[in-house]
Amino acid sequence: MPFGEIFGKLMDTLVGGPVVKPFPKEPVKVPPKWRGKPLYDAEDCTGCRQCERVCPPGAITIEDKKGEFFHYKIDYGVCIYCWYCIDACPTTALTGDDKTGLYVGTDRTQERIESGVPYVECPVCGSKVLRPARTLVIRQFKKYTPETLVRASVCPKCRREKTPEEIESAVQKYLEDHGISRD
Ligand code: SF4
Ligand code: SF4
Repeated sequence: MPFGEIFGKLMDTLVGGPVVKPFPKEPVKVPPKWRGKPLYDAEDCTGCRQCERVCPPGAITIEDKKGEFFHYKIDYGVCIYCWYCIDACPTTALTGDDKTGLYVGTDRTQERIESGVPYVECPVCGSKVLRPARTLVIRQFKKYTPETLVRASVCPKCRREKTPEEIESAVQKYLEDHGISRD
């Protein structure tokens, strides 16, 4: 680089201040179609594990503590931001942050998200089922309320083996016993 150009840049820096942006303290402008962090919303998760299967570097780990909790983790230090998981997700549980620049610091506990889906009771037989995803409840009942959540929680076995009348009567009793108001 010619001396004049170096001198010009030096003067620009002296007069204009540092050229390096203080990211992550201040946001940076990201280019169009930016692929930032994949974000997870447990309320919309069905527990299908498609995201875990397609993730190339194994950044997603899911621990299914049967009957208790479905523990979900994305490690942003391992993630390559390909968004395959978002493409594979059948609901909107995974979405991509296309506005924020990436920062992975040395404190790895800050660089992962951990969340999860609780198991709930089937209102008919009392067995444990993964809490139904919000999207699926809305698709089936057109709204997401405590009552529709209970109705969507009827387990596959009861749906197969009980009559609609038996299911309805068990659901009514469950709503009454748990003080859940009807819509
Ligand atoms: S964006 Fe790619 S690497 Fe990151 S969690 Fe999703 S599938 Fe894995
Ligand atoms: S985040 Fe999406 S793909 Fe992953 S387990 Fe939940 S519903 Fe399935």
